[in-house]
Amino acid sequence: MDGVRNVCVIGAGIVGTSVAFHLSRFGDVRVSVVDAGYPGAGTTEAGTGWISARGKSDPHYRELRLLAMEEHHRLAESFPSSPWMTTGGTLQVEDSADELDLLVEESHAAGYPVEVLSAAEVNARLEPHVAFARPDLRVAHFLDEFTVAGSLLARTLFQAAVDNGAIGHFGSRVLRLEQLPGGRHRIVHDDGTALEADAVVNAAGARAGEVAASYDIAMPMSPQPGMGIHVRAIGNPLRRMITVKELAAKPETDGIIRLRSLVGWKTGEVASARDEGFTGGMERNAFVAHVLAQAEQLLPSMAPIRPIATRVGVRPMPADGLPRVGTVDSVPGYFDAVMHSGGVLGPLVGRLLAEEIVTGKQSPLLAGYRPDRFLGSPAPSAHLAGDAAGSTLT
Ligand SMILES: Cc1cc2nc3c(=O)[nH]c(=O)nc-3n(C[C@H](O)[C@H](O)[C@H](O)COP(=O)(O)OP(=O)(O)OC[C@H]3O[C@@H](n4cnc5c(N)ncnc54)[C@H](O)[C@@H]3O)c2cc1C
Repeated sequence: MDGVRNVCVIGAGIVGTSVAFHLSRFGDVRVSVVDAGYPGAGTTEAGTGWISARGKSDPHYRELRLLAMEEHHRLAESFPSSPWMTTGGTLQVEDSADELDLLVEESHAAGYPVEVLSAAEVNARLEPHVAFARPDLRVAHFLDEFTVAGSLLARTLFQAAVDNGAIGHFGSRVLRLEQLPGGRHRIVHDDGTALEADAVVNAAGARAGEVAASYDIAMPMSPQPGMGIHVRAIGNPLRRMITVKELAAKPETDGIIRLRSLVGWKTGEVASARDEGFTGGMERNAFVAHVLAQAEQLLPSMAPIRPIATRVGVRPMPADGLPRVGTVDSVPGYFDAVMHSGGVLGPLVGRLLAEEIVTGKQSPLLAGYRPDRFLGSPAPSAHLAGDAAGSTLT
């Protein structure tokens, strides 16, 4: 879309701040970022931030994720330091030797770097404080994977956008969008104020459907809730993310370890687990205690582990599990940027979308993820969402 000089980004999560940062680099584009809360405080705060392209069956989607992993490194190089990133690979312990063999075989076949270590080797070389069930247990080390602290990255991107001239408007919700003559947009807030822009980006995460409804744009979603549990790391008990059964433990540079459990999803199919709730039917405190007990087994030097905070977030998953990015034919100047795996994809998709908005040239990398694929079709089921996104729910 030529002639875009003034863009409003709704949503300051990892996706919206990335779009805003890349737009702001064009210099002659005025960028406003609006959020009902604060940068990085939505689902981005709850997400694990595991940056991986593993286990995705769709080759185009896997390729997008591999490119997105590279983009994270490029982005990090454009800042003096990147405290949001924890490199050194990730570790995975599978329930059975067969499952581990399958995981490693699939990764080798896809050219995805992985080495298999014994638990004793992991303790000697990588993680001295992790307790494994047996010293000869085999552990997969995914060498190129890493993690990010999503909200720190979102805040950094927002600050960099501000340094380039962007303005943030926080604490009021966007109530509706209105089309103005000349293809412009009015963004109306619940505090009675409004902004006008040549283009508007809907990066409102799990609530993006409410924003899209203003323009009668259907946004079928398969929202998947999940909880992050933050605990204080004493000493340096963990250096990289490790996944054991349904538990993932991830260190961050601020001395916090984040725990995430997929207990709900391990109890059955995606759809039924969602219906039962992500706690697998457990009361909330019982669920937290269950996850902490698993974490104490994994990291006994930290026992007793007490939670600092729990954070529930809703994965903004479009109904087919794939990202939803780009313009909608019926509303010129309106763009969607809605996706699960925003931690992985946000930096790359944000750059590609910013380039599309300013230059009007569509990126072939985003061709399979256009919003118009949902036109006239009923929302696919949650089972389909799981299949399309691959077998690994993060
Ligand atoms: C438990 C869990 C684990 C996850 N693990 C991973 C992982 O390991 N790797 C990975 O890549 N992804 C993971 N995800 C998914 C990832 O966190 C999300 O895809 C990502 O955070 C989405 O970012 P976002 O910017 O789209 O949404 P958000 O961070 O939710 O940002 C959207 C923003 O829009 C604002 N907003 C909404 N409606 C309005 C409105 N009407 N007006 C104004 N503002 C509005 C909200 O306040 C919010 O700040 C996980 C998610 C969960 C819940």
